[in-house]
Amino acid sequence: MHFPAFDDFYQRLLFLLPFATNFGIPERSFTYNAPHEWKDTFPQCGGAEQSPIAISRHKVIPIGLPPLHFFRYDEPFDQLLSVHNNGHTVHFSVPTTVFGERPSVTGGLLQDFYEARDVHFHWGSQQSKGSEHLLNGRRYDLEMHIVHRNTKYISDEEARNNTDGLAVLAVLFKVVRTGPTFYQPGLNEIFGSLLHLGDFNSTYAPPVLITLESLLSNLDRGNFYSYKGSLTTPPCSPAVLWHVFAEVLPISYQDLPKFWQLRNRQGRPLLNNFRPLQSQETRQIFHRRPADQQLLWL
Ligand SMILES: [Zn+2]
Repeated sequence: MHFPAFDDFYQRLLFLLPFATNFGIPERSFTYNAPHEWKDTFPQCGGAEQSPIAISRHKVIPIGLPPLHFFRYDEPFDQLLSVHNNGHTVHFSVPTTVFGERPSVTGGLLQDFYEARDVHFHWGSQQSKGSEHLLNGRRYDLEMHIVHRNTKYISDEEARNNTDGLAVLAVLFKVVRTGPTFYQPGLNEIFGSLLHLGDFNSTYAPPVLITLESLLSNLDRGNFYSYKGSLTTPPCSPAVLWHVFAEVLPISYQDLPKFWQLRNRQGRPLLNNFRPLQSQETRQIFHRRPADQQLLWL
């Protein structure tokens, strides 16, 4: 059952709250200066199955996971995006498309349909790279998260309390210094909007209708790593089925620094908003490549 008016009320309430994280979670407080202290306020941050982790191609299990299937990723949203600097990241809530529903995804490790809810980024600084996941020993310059919620749960809180509640698609970016970089229009709009988002709590609406697909560029969506993990910000709920794409997208050396000029709540530079690596423990990481699928078809 769905109560749009109720949802709208909560959207407004969250907007009015002085603190809000990147997934609509009222925040007590957390800072990237002391992520080891998060567990003092948010016990799950000290628990099991935490993210991010280092992914190495030599330690993954190459199995025939099904491909990811994308729905409504190619439909324009029914409104302009509202891109927001919340002091921890730059993000936007995913609206419905012109056909009235949100984009969704299934396949991979996902047994259900997951609806896109939020898109945000993690980055470093002029001195350090800032992706959250490491791929084959390398940290990259930027990481984009498209957060999806299992459609069988009716609230973010319910989803966070279930191990199959959320699915995050992660895309890594590497800075390129040669020639112009051509993005799909969506990425272009998001990177361009950063110039308007320097101040904490500022919001900007890129003046064109975009699609979620236009954030993925020509990314090879058939090649990804997948594992069971958590939110990488408090409350660190172990509720996320992660899908990290193996292909790394380019970002221009002119665009990456636009992230570094954002400011946090204290008016200081919003830098290095990535959580330290967590232990893989006994968890399995799966690698899905189209080649593996072909072997299965023989
Ligand atoms: Zn994130």
